[in-house]
Amino acid sequence: MLASIKAIRGMNDILPAQTPLWQFFEAQMKLVFDQYGYQEIRMPIAEKTDLFCRSIGEATDVVEKEMYTFADRNGDNMTLRPEGTASCVRAAQEHGLTYNQVQRLWYHGPMFRYERPQKGRQRQFHQFGAEVYGLDGPDVDAELIIMTARLWRQLGLQDAVTLQLNTLGSSAARAAYRTDLVTFLQVNMHLLDTDSQRRVSTNPLRVLDSKDSNTQALLDGAPDFYGYLDDESRVHFQRLRELLDAADISYEINPRLVRGLDYYCKTVFEWVTDKLGAQGTVCGGGRYDGMIEQLGGKSTPAVGWAMGVERMILLLQEMQQEPAGLGQQADVYLAHMGDAASLRTMQLAEQLRSDIAGLRLLWHCGGGSLKNQMKKADRCGAKLVLIMGEDELAQGQIQLRPLQGQGEQQSISLDQVSAHVAELI
Ligand code: ATP
Ligand code: MG
Repeated sequence: MLASIKAIRGMNDILPAQTPLWQFFEAQMKLVFDQYGYQEIRMPIAEKTDLFCRSIGEATDVVEKEMYTFADRNGDNMTLRPEGTASCVRAAQEHGLTYNQVQRLWYHGPMFRYERPQKGRQRQFHQFGAEVYGLDGPDVDAELIIMTARLWRQLGLQDAVTLQLNTLGSSAARAAYRTDLVTFLQVNMHLLDTDSQRRVSTNPLRVLDSKDSNTQALLDGAPDFYGYLDDESRVHFQRLRELLDAADISYEINPRLVRGLDYYCKTVFEWVTDKLGAQGTVCGGGRYDGMIEQLGGKSTPAVGWAMGVERMILLLQEMQQEPAGLGQQADVYLAHMGDAASLRTMQLAEQLRSDIAGLRLLWHCGGGSLKNQMKKADRCGAKLVLIMGEDELAQGQIQLRPLQGQGEQQSISLDQVSAHVAELI
């Protein structure tokens, strides 16, 4: 026998037992985006490699070691998107959406990063993202955070996540700080973990969010970024805090939150949870006013966030916030015995689906005993079974049997079925 082919490591199937929770979550996301007037945009899952190198930054983990990049048959370099922000900017700019107008956009879909697969970390994973173009004030930063807070409440997760907030200032402020930070790190090079040692020359700000405890202890003595903050960013941050306070959203200021990608300025934030072990960030975002210009467009302010769906699903399960009845496949199971009843119930199934909006009905296929059909009805979670044998067919009747202990079996005439079922569902 041939060996069977398995899925690619880190690229998971989402099985029928899991999709109802995914669909529930996706519906909740869409609801929130609609509530705030955000419009959906869909981008391709592959882009020219340059797009990510230029936007995310050459010295980031994503570009350095996580991208799925290959040459297509024409020899052109393409990359499976590791995130949505760069593609979204590319699309908006290419189609003139950022030209003198405000855009509030959302997207959803698979992302690809070559990482070590573990709980909450896959090579193909899914994100929802929101991006706003054309607004430079802290008001929209606040809105983007407030909408995520609404989502947590809607999902019953408000106690499972906390908001971490920071400002990265202007690029000039960051550059001045970077110079002094590098000087400090170079003096203490021997005390840094190896990843951080490497980053001193490539991406020194990333050293600030090193997970290594010795490095973190050393950083207590590092220059304080807030001392370098430019006035504009300081005012922006202050106003954002006021708005969040007024919206009753609590947050922790985390001066070491720098986020992994190069393109952020001013506001950055993460929603984190302690319920998922090491993969604790469920949503992260910030302002990236420089990116559109960097990708060849007219300078346009931009801000957004991205949320990892796998981690959200894990969190919903962990916090037992899966809505009841999710696994239910059908409301009604339609059982039958004999060829003639099979034909008649097929017609009846179509009639019921037409008559009752949203009815979920499983028409039995594949023959077998009534006992066997009843087992299937139970397994699909149906609330009632309709049963037609030769006698019922001859009399223009059908048996209606409520499952889950609600009421007696009764025989009803075929022209009354829709009304009865509609009432019981
Ligand atoms: P992490 O520090 O966990 O690697 P990140 O900073 O690389 O996260 P972002 O690029 O900000 O992540 O992506 C936003 C969100 O997407 C993350 O907060 C997380 O929820 C999710 N995410 C990122 N990478 C993965 C992955 N490999 N598998 C599953 N979810 C992911
Ligand atoms: Mg990462």
